[in-house]
Amino acid sequence: MAKGAIIVGAGPVGLLLAGELRLGGADVVVYDRLPAPSGESRGLGFTSRTAEVFDQRGLLERLGDIRWGKQGHYGGVRIDFSLLEESHFGVMGLAQSATEQMLGDWVAELGVEVRRGHELTALRETAEGVVLGFQGPDGYTEDTAAYVVGCDGGRSTVRTLAGIAFPGDEATRGLYLADVVGADLRMRPIGERIPGGGMVLSVTLEPGVDRIVIHEPGLRPQHGEGELAFSEVADAWQRLTGEDIHHASASWMCALTNATGLAEQYRKGRVLLAGDAAHDHAPLGAQGVSVGLQDAANLGWKLAAVLGGRAPESLLDTYHSERHPVGEQLMRDVHSMSLLYLSGEEMEPLRAVVRELVQLPDAARRLAGRVSGLHIRYDVGDGAHPFLGLRLAPHRAVERADGTRVRVAELLHAARGVLITTGADPAAAATAARWADRVDTVTGSWADQEADHADAPAALLVRPDGHIAWAAPDGGDLEAALTRWFGAPAAA
Ligand SMILES: Cc1cc2nc3c(=O)[nH]c(=O)nc-3n(C[C@H](O)[C@H](O)[C@H](O)COP(=O)(O)OP(=O)(O)OC[C@H]3O[C@@H](n4cnc5c(N)ncnc54)[C@H](O)[C@@H]3O)c2cc1C
Repeated sequence: MAKGAIIVGAGPVGLLLAGELRLGGADVVVYDRLPAPSGESRGLGFTSRTAEVFDQRGLLERLGDIRWGKQGHYGGVRIDFSLLEESHFGVMGLAQSATEQMLGDWVAELGVEVRRGHELTALRETAEGVVLGFQGPDGYTEDTAAYVVGCDGGRSTVRTLAGIAFPGDEATRGLYLADVVGADLRMRPIGERIPGGGMVLSVTLEPGVDRIVIHEPGLRPQHGEGELAFSEVADAWQRLTGEDIHHASASWMCALTNATGLAEQYRKGRVLLAGDAAHDHAPLGAQGVSVGLQDAANLGWKLAAVLGGRAPESLLDTYHSERHPVGEQLMRDVHSMSLLYLSGEEMEPLRAVVRELVQLPDAARRLAGRVSGLHIRYDVGDGAHPFLGLRLAPHRAVERADGTRVRVAELLHAARGVLITTGADPAAAATAARWADRVDTVTGSWADQEADHADAPAALLVRPDGHIAWAAPDGGDLEAALTRWFGAPAAA
């Protein structure tokens, strides 16, 4: 019998999605062309909302000692993240390979099989499912599933084989990125502009290793690792900063461009895309990992519910309608960040205006909320409650009747829906009881009635991804919300 889902790509997005699907009871297997994880450092952390996504599944503590980054910027213009309730951009200085290792261990514990050394080369859709062809250690093999999710990166083969268009900007600029060993550089964490239109950035990766990013007008836009020599990186660094790092070496380096692409459809029939396969761009705002992981958190519970026969297939269309606008906004932000960051002196008047605007708390809060992912609001239907569609901050806690406290993040560990009632809306629990096989009900009061909790609703329905689907009062009809997000009730 065909399995539920095949995920192509065991990067961070494919791994989180695999875990989410398993938590939802789905039968899933992951394929990756690499025989072993690449170990590339790539992204150095993730945004606040992504940290919350990990917290919701109890994964944050698996990362050990993490450093919360206070500094944030928008295309090199500093933003004050203390304006946000969370007061930080997110986690910084954590190599992507460490995040992938944590996710890999987690999915292994959940019993997900990751078949490495298998490269996807063919895809065809049938009435029953999707047939995928792989070149692997034993030659060409095929596998079939009801759905395939392409988490196979910016040059996604799934996307190409499914014929999903990927419009975006052509590459016009080149950048170098290197993890330099033994150079002992001065830190330039949000980048420094060099007269003539250059930009250099340096941050400490670990003692003795610095991540540098270089943009110089005239650098040839090219992609990849193999063709770049450290001497080219060191030459460019010296031209721009006057500092000689030729004596040092690079543990990893690559050339990048400012090309972008956004998939026209995140879902086409039985084919779905997530992560860089759906939206690819230069890592100028350090958002690729985070937006991709949030795609996975949005899609996992929905696809698991459809595969389990608990929700109609149309639920999958909300993946596109909720996440594609986030991708569009990401593309707009990356474009404007790239202009602010990488243009020459001609951009200075506009930079000055943006610097002035972000002194206004509302403007800074708007950008910080967007960059951190905390202000994402999905259209969850009718209702006037101001919380609808936003995520419920996972540090909020409920005090149950027996006096025990539980954080919202802990309530979401099982990736099920949660109805939180405070006793002010007794009918809600009775209604939700009909969905008891997929929605847990917790009754109590909001703990820590601080100023920001004063507006806490009488009752809330939280989706498995932490977003609020219904709230009382004025949040619409609970039964309609339960049916929309969790399917028809099992019990009469
Ligand atoms: C130099 C560099 C620096 C970056 N810095 C940052 C940063 O600071 N912050 C940030 O947020 N992001 C950063 N990014 C972006 C970040 O690395 C990506 O957004 C992230 O890796 C996307 O995750 P993913 O799981 O979607 O795809 P990937 O991590 O690309 O994983 C895709 C997987 O699919 C596999 N695959 C591909 N094709 C096939 C096939 N045909 N068959 C089978 N398997 C296949 C690949 O082997 C790979 O394992 C950086 C990227 C680069 C290159």
